[in-house]
Amino acid sequence: MKLDVLVVAAHPDDAEMSVGGTILRLIDSGARVGIVDCTRGEMGTRGTQADRDNETAAADRLMHIHARFNLNLPDSRVESNVENREKLASLIRKTQPDVILAHHPTDLHPDHMAAGHLAREAWYLSGLKRLAQLAGDESPHRPAHIFHFLSHVAQEPTMVIDVSPVWKRKLELVQCYASQLTPQTPDDNGEHFLFGSNIEERITTKARYFGEQIGVQVGEPLVHMGPIPENDRLRHWLNKS
Ligand SMILES: [Zn+2]
Repeated sequence: MKLDVLVVAAHPDDAEMSVGGTILRLIDSGARVGIVDCTRGEMGTRGTQADRDNETAAADRLMHIHARFNLNLPDSRVESNVENREKLASLIRKTQPDVILAHHPTDLHPDHMAAGHLAREAWYLSGLKRLAQLAGDESPHRPAHIFHFLSHVAQEPTMVIDVSPVWKRKLELVQCYASQLTPQTPDDNGEHFLFGSNIEERITTKARYFGEQIGVQVGEPLVHMGPIPENDRLRHWLNKS
């Protein structure tokens, strides 16, 4: 299975909330996009495991995602260690994406940080021939680019993707994760410990802030370590939509 873009996320819903609009635009333009979640979000304060699995499946159908994987790492205990990075490197070799989108390694949630490091390390290791042989994979494959998305902590973006054309659909994706949006118990007042209530409002505020920087209504920021080559594969697909 050859993918064009692989999104590496810590928990189910991180990909949709952080870069759901970018994913929709890529799929609209014909790119084959896959998501790998590191965990199943079983330590989340809200929602049962079954709820979360059903919500992810509903989001997959809305996005028409080409593949969704789960590394089944323990939630709240994600580590970028040898075992985990080789597991992810093997998935990268099997799916052969040209671009990886992953958490920024300096995000707030420790799982997001670990997933960001894990993605960078696996991205590098996936290109090593002897490691590929050791894993029993057909051939090495290192994606051309890795971009980082921002969940909680703002960074200076390298590029902002205009997601105005798909914003309504992006919010529908977020709404798939109903268990994460609404209080589930009498002692839950609906607020996030840092950012107050109403996740949709927070997502929209952030998207407006970054959109403003490029003169569009709403945007999703991406960070690239170092300069972007003129022929980067992400813009190749986005320019088609
Ligand atoms: Zn998360």
